[in-house]
Amino acid sequence: MIFLPTRAAALERLEDFVPHTVRYAGHRNFDLGAGKREGVSGLSPYIRTRLVTEEECTRAVLARHNARAPEKFLQEIAWRTYWKGWLEMRPNVWRQYLDTLAVQEKSRYYEEAIYGNTRIECFNHWANELVETGYLHNHARMWFASIWIFTLKLSWQLGADFFLRNLLDGDPASNTLSWRWVAGLHTPGKHYLARAENISKFTNGRFDPKGRLNESAPPLPMDFGPERQSLLLPPDPAPRGRIGHLMFPDDLAPPPDRLGKISATATFIPPVLETTPLVSAFLNGAVNDTLHRTHGRRLSGPFTSAISDWMSAEKLDSIVVSMPTVGFTKDFLDTEQLPVPPHFFVRDWDRKLWPHATAGFFKLKAALPKIHAALAPRRKDDLFPHV
Ligand SMILES: Cc1cc2nc3c(=O)[nH]c(=O)nc-3n(C[C@H](O)[C@H](O)[C@H](O)COP(=O)(O)OP(=O)(O)OC[C@H]3O[C@@H](n4cnc5c(N)ncnc54)[C@H](O)[C@@H]3O)c2cc1C
Repeated sequence: MIFLPTRAAALERLEDFVPHTVRYAGHRNFDLGAGKREGVSGLSPYIRTRLVTEEECTRAVLARHNARAPEKFLQEIAWRTYWKGWLEMRPNVWRQYLDTLAVQEKSRYYEEAIYGNTRIECFNHWANELVETGYLHNHARMWFASIWIFTLKLSWQLGADFFLRNLLDGDPASNTLSWRWVAGLHTPGKHYLARAENISKFTNGRFDPKGRLNESAPPLPMDFGPERQSLLLPPDPAPRGRIGHLMFPDDLAPPPDRLGKISATATFIPPVLETTPLVSAFLNGAVNDTLHRTHGRRLSGPFTSAISDWMSAEKLDSIVVSMPTVGFTKDFLDTEQLPVPPHFFVRDWDRKLWPHATAGFFKLKAALPKIHAALAPRRKDDLFPHV
């Protein structure tokens, strides 16, 4: 798949995939190799930056089909939101991941794994594919993480870090929690074991690692019991005067109209995780595309002075920012001072779905039909506004 970092490319991919969403359930598990990915959408790098939002994807599907036939696809879109909501209520899981990662030793076996030099051909293939393309099919991510943890016996935190640096869609919530899910740390006692037969079946015989995988490993022992905090979402802000919209690469979508007229936009890429040149190029491209469409300005240098200068140059009275979720951007903002307190807003989609992420996915899944029915129908030409 080729991922052009523009909203136009995101919308084209969405429009192309909408007709396929009704066949998604039967095709999504097959990984037939790069160039043969018709079973999945390839939307994740766009959703990760919100060049296209989860709500837009859902609306586009519902405008074409009733909710039943593409149900599985709509549920997968909601999985991403579920992971975000779940982590919002358990920020200590993210802290614990970072703290444990910081003290991991990178052994020779780790090097062999990330450079694709193990004795497991399919694993080597996926390690190289990830580094070269910035994308892996969901089933390959599951097999890879499982082999990493249970056959190669490497630390899941190092594996999650390898993914996060290399994935174009790298997302602290989806990535950390998916690795924990594979390891058996999300649902205690339930882990995901990669099996040679399953790999052979769903790669259409491209790989058959028979006899090479540990197919009977127990789940990892629970590391700690993550405590759930209540979800404290700020009410809609009421910014005054001339309003600026400040964006980070986690959310490049416009704010809701009800916040008022936006007089200026700007982006800032926090110097946080060291990603690969491929990922940096995608994020930079996504930011440039957003600035081009919104006639905005890219801010760089020391954060506080960059914001002050922008506010003075644009004569801004207040700034609105999509509320950063648990992850690097939030960690960065927590340590920075802004010249005025920003007005954080929460998108309707997140506000509606996150409260259902208190426990397993089932609770959110059960709420989806009502949430989908409540999405007001829009005229077809309103579905894909290009700015
Ligand atoms: C170990 C591991 C790590 C992962 N890390 C990430 C990550 O960093 N970022 C990320 O976006 N996804 C992650 N995923 C989830 C999933 O693999 C990808 O979202 C999916 O493969 C993206 O490809 P697609 O857009 O073609 O998916 P499609 O199958 O076309 O799905 C459509 C959209 O639904 C969402 N989605 C689908 N499956 C999942 C899922 N299991 N969890 C969360 N959202 C999902 C994505 O936004 C995706 O774009 C991870 C999964 C595993 C097993």
